[in-house]
Amino acid sequence: MNFERIQNSNDAYLAENYARLPVAPIGGKGATIEGADGKTYVDFGSGISVNNFGVNDEEWKNAVKAQLDKIAHVSNYYYSEPQGRLAELLCEKTGAKRVFFGNSGAEANECAFKAARKYSYEKYGAGRYKIVTLRGSFHGRTLFTLTATGQDAFHRYFDPFVPGVDYAEANMSDVRRVADETTCAVVVECVQGEGGVKALDPAFLKALERFCKERDILLVCDEVQCGNGRTGKLYAYEHYGISPDVVTTAKGLGGGLPIGACLFFGKTEHVLKAGDHGSTFGGNPVVCAGAYNILSRLTDEFLLEVQGKSEYMRAKLRGTDGVREVSGLGLMIGLTVDGDSKEIARKCLERGLLVLTAHEKVRLLPPLTITKAETDEGLTILREVLKK
Ligand SMILES: *Cc1c(COP(=O)(O)O)cnc(C)c1O
Repeated sequence: MNFERIQNSNDAYLAENYARLPVAPIGGKGATIEGADGKTYVDFGSGISVNNFGVNDEEWKNAVKAQLDKIAHVSNYYYSEPQGRLAELLCEKTGAKRVFFGNSGAEANECAFKAARKYSYEKYGAGRYKIVTLRGSFHGRTLFTLTATGQDAFHRYFDPFVPGVDYAEANMSDVRRVADETTCAVVVECVQGEGGVKALDPAFLKALERFCKERDILLVCDEVQCGNGRTGKLYAYEHYGISPDVVTTAKGLGGGLPIGACLFFGKTEHVLKAGDHGSTFGGNPVVCAGAYNILSRLTDEFLLEVQGKSEYMRAKLRGTDGVREVSGLGLMIGLTVDGDSKEIARKCLERGLLVLTAHEKVRLLPPLTITKAETDEGLTILREVLKK
């Protein structure tokens, strides 16, 4: 089907909640995407940090196909081999004790918020329910996770919101003001993605960890976007030397199929009991088999390569005309640019490069496996676009 027909059907029949750019990816290899228009594109977006091993990754496809040939769905009435294997590997690699699987980042966070309220209820009784999140954060689109998202722009039209959520600036004096005796959890993205690719201040996160430990407030790290190798560590909190009580992740963990995971550490190990939470598709065997393959390849050696690629790209970007500031961590890169970020993304697309935006910034989340040749090709296009 040619691009115009795809575009027409999308515009005519899909809900109008996305502002789509004029390209329809239909295939490709690694960080090179093939469009229905017959053109190829360098991918600096990886489907918002989902295709971390690029597209059409053979190993991942083989893992998925092998499971598809056995059984594609098992209800959570029963035991599951792929779920067990993946949960075991997640725990081995992070020190977590137990894992809940859902289908998305929002569901991983929803689980974390419910678990935090239950943890607090069981220990301290009713009334200790408040979830504190940061201004500029993004935690999802369900009503609870949207409420938790600390950006007013997302909140229009949808009130009344879930009660018991409040926002703090990313500094301790504001956290102290907002996080009172009714608070059960503080939620942070160590590197805010949608909010503008901002790495949080290490001193703030260390102080926040201490603050939470002293009050038995759960520290929840939302690693949906910054996790799974994106920043050059398996999870971004590792850069900060902090020990969260709960970690949520999704996007890159599935290698292209939908998954969300909520990891429970130490004191939250036994919070969820039979009947407290669930998901029909959560922990789907095909998805988990793929995710196991992805996670098993995020080795220390691989992560060092990601760090090297990040240094290479950042050095080049810092010397690029029209780039005023380079933010983020690892291959999660934000560019403060001269000019409108959305317009720049459009111009990059016209020249064969896919980039993302986060408010006024251009956001680059290339596949972690991107080659030097693909990187250079993309950077050349970006340089041309930014020059004028
Ligand atoms: C994308 C994202 C989410 C929501 O994930 P979905 O899979 O879209 O529900 C939550 N938190 C962060 C930090 C994200 O980047």
